[in-house]
Amino acid sequence: MPPIQTRGEARSRQVGVLLPLPFDEPFTYRVPDDVHAELGDIVDVPFGPRRVAGVIWGEGDGDVPPEKLKDVIGAFDVPGLTPELRRFVEWVAAYTMSNAGSVLKMVLSVPDGLVPPKPVTAYDLADSVPDIRMTDARKRVIEVAGGLPPLPAADLAREAGCGPSVVKGLAEAGVLEQRTLVPSTGFQPPDLSAGGPVLSPEQAAAADALRELATAHGFGVSLLEGIPGAGKTEVYLEAVVAALEAGKQALVLLPEIALSAQWMDRFRQRFGCKPAEWHSDLTHAQRRTNWRAVATGEARVVVGARSALFLPYPELGVIVIDEEHDASYKQEDGVIYNARDMAIVRAREEEVPVVLVSATPSLETVENVRQGRYGRHNLPDRHAGAGFPDVDVVDMRADGPPADEWLSSPLRAAITETLDQGEQVLLFLNRRGYAPLTLCRACGHRLQCPNCTSWLVEHRLMNRLQCHHCGYTAVLPNTCPSCEAENKLAACGPGVERLAEEVAAQYPDARVVVAASDTIHGPGQAATLVRLIEEREVDIVIGTQIVAKGYHFPHLTLVGVVDSDLGLSGGDLRATERTYQLLYQVAGRAGREHRPGRVVLQTFMPDHPVIKSLAAGDREGFLSAEAKDREIAGMPPFGRLAGIVLSSPDPYQVDRAANALRRTAPSEDGVQVLGPAPAPMALLRGRHRRRFLVKTSREVSLQKALRNWLSTTPIPKKVRVQLDIDPYSFM
Ligand code: ADP
Ligand code: ZN
Repeated sequence: MPPIQTRGEARSRQVGVLLPLPFDEPFTYRVPDDVHAELGDIVDVPFGPRRVAGVIWGEGDGDVPPEKLKDVIGAFDVPGLTPELRRFVEWVAAYTMSNAGSVLKMVLSVPDGLVPPKPVTAYDLADSVPDIRMTDARKRVIEVAGGLPPLPAADLAREAGCGPSVVKGLAEAGVLEQRTLVPSTGFQPPDLSAGGPVLSPEQAAAADALRELATAHGFGVSLLEGIPGAGKTEVYLEAVVAALEAGKQALVLLPEIALSAQWMDRFRQRFGCKPAEWHSDLTHAQRRTNWRAVATGEARVVVGARSALFLPYPELGVIVIDEEHDASYKQEDGVIYNARDMAIVRAREEEVPVVLVSATPSLETVENVRQGRYGRHNLPDRHAGAGFPDVDVVDMRADGPPADEWLSSPLRAAITETLDQGEQVLLFLNRRGYAPLTLCRACGHRLQCPNCTSWLVEHRLMNRLQCHHCGYTAVLPNTCPSCEAENKLAACGPGVERLAEEVAAQYPDARVVVAASDTIHGPGQAATLVRLIEEREVDIVIGTQIVAKGYHFPHLTLVGVVDSDLGLSGGDLRATERTYQLLYQVAGRAGREHRPGRVVLQTFMPDHPVIKSLAAGDREGFLSAEAKDREIAGMPPFGRLAGIVLSSPDPYQVDRAANALRRTAPSEDGVQVLGPAPAPMALLRGRHRRRFLVKTSREVSLQKALRNWLSTTPIPKKVRVQLDIDPYSFM
């Protein structure tokens, strides 16, 4: 890195330091002579009453009067941000219309990781042992110390089965010598010699192409497509190997990373070590260790959730995005970004390849392949030969169960048959809790969240009502809050808890587990659940979308989708696509390995294109119909879209601000502004919300149009403006 230019003899050296705070511009500081810091280095600076770790971003602003300049306190002992990463930060900020400082905060997310771990004192056997009085305990310590690497006193004492005072005594007598050790992060280099399974010809062709890209160090995007179980993971691990062989680091992004115990096991088996994990379930100590291990290059492979994209890899070699279509790659608050899209930008800056992996690639990716911007490798069939399961559709209008039951007789028959054969069933219902709605049978009143436009969901296990948007909870009342009738409140519709009741009544001998984000807490419980299913300790799994992703359960041969229509009726752009992807993923759980699988879809809309194409296994047909709809409407990927949400606790104030914006809305060619309209969640966490949707053709710079518009219209400070480029949520 070039040293920072000094600004002449007379003036001290000044630098611009970008801080991980909501500001777009760096702040100017003076670098004292005894501080050595270069462009990209992470430095400690005073900011108001605080000290903050920021990054030297460039030269200082020469106009700051010298008496106002503060000194950089020091530089951290950690590699600085590479020019590639700094450009990436700026690019993401410009694209998402956020402050560069807020994006930097995602890079410097663990300030503690900037400081090297404290060295510890360890004890080793001295070269010559002086004569001392021997005891049994002392003999044991000497024996143990002779056979092990240097250990801290407490560890050595534990190994020898004595107290630490024995170790200290031996050290004073000169039998043991002190050594200073830097605690290890525990990341070993992956063992690349073992190799994976023998690949099928299609797998080998795809793997060769990806290896070549990863070895050539050039930017390029490839789609790796294939039905669940086709062997995509084995193929992309080859790209990881190629990057590692070239001396680079590899990043694999997974959705629901906390639940990916099976992936971790596979990695450990193949590479003989663990990857560095990065997700919200890590402890603070783990985050600190892992962040630093990535920054120093000690961790060679990172597997993580979307935020892993912002780690400071010094030598990134490949990025893999498994389940690239997954909506969890979209971050919905703070800096609103899609990690899949931003990964492609990071890879372009780093000049490394990206592998997008999916059984059901997003329409955006499919279109990019069609236009020749991305390469594509298709794995046609399961390596083991088992095909995609048979799909049966149950028309709930004709064959539905009686009131307050949710399993139709065809699905019940299929469950019985599967259990009789000693195989496993997954019942999929994407709804947590007991019932999504509670209604008064006397007056029709529905229990609603006081802070949000949403019904309260009954959670019978916790004996509470809960809002799934803001977390508001209350006990279920005995009397209706509206008409005061007693004992008239009734649960409407099923959640997984209620379904579990019906299953228990119908199949009293079956062993049932409920898997939802509020019943599975963290990776440990997820691993236990996976093990129970693998070892056939469970007959029926009732689960939400957390069970839809990436598992292999060899004995699971029936998937019942309790309500296939959930999600089809919402007004959002990707509702049908997402439903298709989710149902396809769930269907892919059935009958892996050598058994054929079976899927039963319960629906009130058997003629809906999603249901029909699933039943017919006609993904191409579904995609082309969906693409045509979007093209006609000028929607992404055929046009650009941004959401603007104004919100305020005061409904009049937000309306005034929205109307003012409406009056100055851009009217140029290729830009269309829809709204303002009350958002579907018109009230969220006590804030009233109004929405605009801005649609432009692909030729127009959406960000520029928005910037011009918003910078010319004054908006009161109390009204929050949230910009969402490429929105996924339309709530
Ligand atoms: P996908 O990622 O497409 O869902 P995986 O790569 O996880 O598929 O493969 C599914 C299962 O098949 C895994 O257990 C995997 O280890 C195994 N598998 C994949 N390819 C091969 C192969 N060439 N030889 C042996 N086993 C394989
Ligand atoms: Zn709420």
